[in-house]
Amino acid sequence: MSIQQNLDTIRQTLPNTVTLVAVSKTKPLDDILAAYQAGHRVFGENKIQEMTQKWEALPKDIQWHMIGHVQRNKVKYMAAYVSLIHGVDSLKLLKEIDKQAKKHQRNINCLLQIHIAEEETKFGLSLEELEQLVAAPEFQELTNVTIKGVMGMATFTQNTEQIRKEFRFLKSVFGSLQQKLQGIDTLSMGMSGDYGIAVAEGSTMVRIGSSIFGVRNYP
Ligand SMILES: *Cc1c(COP(=O)(O)O)cnc(C)c1O
Repeated sequence: MSIQQNLDTIRQTLPNTVTLVAVSKTKPLDDILAAYQAGHRVFGENKIQEMTQKWEALPKDIQWHMIGHVQRNKVKYMAAYVSLIHGVDSLKLLKEIDKQAKKHQRNINCLLQIHIAEEETKFGLSLEELEQLVAAPEFQELTNVTIKGVMGMATFTQNTEQIRKEFRFLKSVFGSLQQKLQGIDTLSMGMSGDYGIAVAEGSTMVRIGSSIFGVRNYP
């Protein structure tokens, strides 16, 4: 199946309230252009350097989402153009994004990454850490970042009930953040293997790579 056919198939299964982020990490420019020519404009990458090279080379109406773990010293390379940062998991990082956004006279939209999986290796805040972050005085002082919602990755497992439970938890965190902050409208959950469950559990944004572009040689 071609990239265009894969996109069409996925779009047909998604409600039109759900934003599809086409995860193009490790994939060549031609693959992104194939999706672009099929009308797609929202792409996700997990390495800042790779995303910046692609941003430089490709049409400027593409919206670039940073979905990977963000090192503070690299925020400056994407601050001019990034449209949404999914993996924000500390106040320190948020302050750096705010500082770099100011330099470019921009506002940068961010999601707070929540740890929902069983695996130790996945990044993200606990519910307690999230509450501390948004209650911190320094959080109130941020001027050039906007928190749009939360993002999470479920455990990599065949156990669909476990995945469902983790997505339900993330949805509840999303709901509690809506009680605390204005403008919270983005619940980023669901990848190639589990987006059906994520959408059923209330996802508003799915991040899909291999089901569009084919398997990757490295993660
Ligand atoms: C790679 C990646 C995806 C997409 O994974 P697929 O299984 O290829 O759909 C989604 N979210 C994050 C954070 C990723 O790193």
